[in-house]
Amino acid sequence: MKETTQKVEKVVRLEVLTPKTELSFGKAWPYAPAPEGREHIRLQSRYQLFIGGKFVDPRSKRYFPTINPATEETLAEVAEADAGDVDAAVQSARRVFDRYWAKMPGRERAKYVYRIARMLAERAREFAVIESLDNGKPIKLSRDDDIPLATAHFFYYAGWADKLEYAFPGRTARPVGVAGQVIPWNFPLLMAAWKIAPALATGNTVVLKPAETTPLTALHLAALIQEADLPPGVVNIVTGAGATGGALVNHPGVNKIAFTGSTEVGKIIQRTIAGTKKRLTLELGGKSPNIIFNDAPIDAAIEGIIGSIFYNQGHVCCAGSRLIVQEGIAPIVIKKLKDRMQTLRMGDPLDKNTDIGAINSKPQLEKISELVQSGVKEGAVLWQTTCELPARGYWFRPTFFTNVAQSHRIAREEIFGPVLAIMTFRTPEEAVEKANNTPYGLAASIWTDKGSKIFRITNKLKAGVIWNNTANMFDPSAPFGGYKESGFGREGGVHGLYPYVELR
Ligand code: NAD
Repeated sequence: MKETTQKVEKVVRLEVLTPKTELSFGKAWPYAPAPEGREHIRLQSRYQLFIGGKFVDPRSKRYFPTINPATEETLAEVAEADAGDVDAAVQSARRVFDRYWAKMPGRERAKYVYRIARMLAERAREFAVIESLDNGKPIKLSRDDDIPLATAHFFYYAGWADKLEYAFPGRTARPVGVAGQVIPWNFPLLMAAWKIAPALATGNTVVLKPAETTPLTALHLAALIQEADLPPGVVNIVTGAGATGGALVNHPGVNKIAFTGSTEVGKIIQRTIAGTKKRLTLELGGKSPNIIFNDAPIDAAIEGIIGSIFYNQGHVCCAGSRLIVQEGIAPIVIKKLKDRMQTLRMGDPLDKNTDIGAINSKPQLEKISELVQSGVKEGAVLWQTTCELPARGYWFRPTFFTNVAQSHRIAREEIFGPVLAIMTFRTPEEAVEKANNTPYGLAASIWTDKGSKIFRITNKLKAGVIWNNTANMFDPSAPFGGYKESGFGREGGVHGLYPYVELR
């Protein structure tokens, strides 16, 4: 073991001296603009609530703007649902559950879910553009990840609808009732799909509340669901901020709450429904590590880090926001990371060359800036790319910190921005200790050439998902969820059916 490490270190030192690795690219090569068209999408100036299969005005009579974070332009006004609107949505979900949807044979429900999947696939380009406009993420992510994955979830769970007896052999699975679902802004349509698809496949009805800064794809999904002829009331979409989410969580007619969002709000929800009969799943925050050993494929690991923290502006619950790297290779990893980060293109989210888009909102940008300042104040060493920031909109340079102590806020708190805290380790035991030294436990990635090391370390990490020599890979058939303050319950795979069924 000792011998192998020494050999690897020698190779690494040699590599440092070769001219190829000394070469610094400095900046991204200029590409001609390649904007994705907007002509094929039609945004409304105003969006109503989707209740009982119809678009209706809010009883509150209030609307709020949703903003393009890359330009600060208002994209549309969106209805703000109050407790009365939420009540109407829950009642409509209850009516159709009792009369129709829960009794429908699985093979019939499957047809509806398949139809939603097919229609979403056909209109993927439209949804990708709307997602990038409303969220600020690059079109290459919404086009290649968010929308295809959302579609895949509908396809996957449609497949389970008539096969529940195989998912739960010897038991009968019955739907739970009305599911109240509250989702965040980082993967707006994907989070809606994670919630709606398993609920419908198992015979539940839904009231979904999207995040207030990214409601548009959920509202376009509502229009698609209407077109798909889903029985009115099976899916209801109520827009608004925390108060609307609170009204849904508190509604006595809701049987199950599925929440994805911050740990802070997750705790409020858990307290609120304690003592009621409501079921709960919580998908919360994270502070996930990328652990890189001396024998790791370094270039692949660099791409993994870039993908897991910098693409998507760090707006990923399982973002690898801590880099825990073995001491011997730390200098080369940091050098390669700098070179790669300097080539990242930041700018117009609709440009197909853009790697890094806008931060989703002004409050989120302020939160990132405050945490980064705390890192500097506490003595960590800051490094940022030198790319130009657009004049308007909310932007933050890809950033990393070295000289990070485990007690620093940047090492402990979820930043939810393109900011990486780098720490080193000498032994595998130290790597495990540092990786687990967080209140969270959502995900982790281990980078090493040795399969045996992967198994040993994986078994000691307290994280819901662990990737080996890769990062942030998703598939509808694979369960996802947290440990500790990252929440409980699983979404995806057969595990994702459990929260929506009662087994007899
Ligand atoms: P947030 O908790 O601020 O908001 C999430 C949703 O909850 C929004 O729709 C919001 O309007 C609503 N909400 C706010 N206060 C509420 C209340 N008191 N009662 C009911 N609903 C309320 O989170 P966010 O800033 O939108 O999202 C980012 C967070 O989500 C991060 O912490 C991220 O890690 C987490 N996240 C987790 C996962 C996962 O699968 N574990 C996935 C995506 C995002």
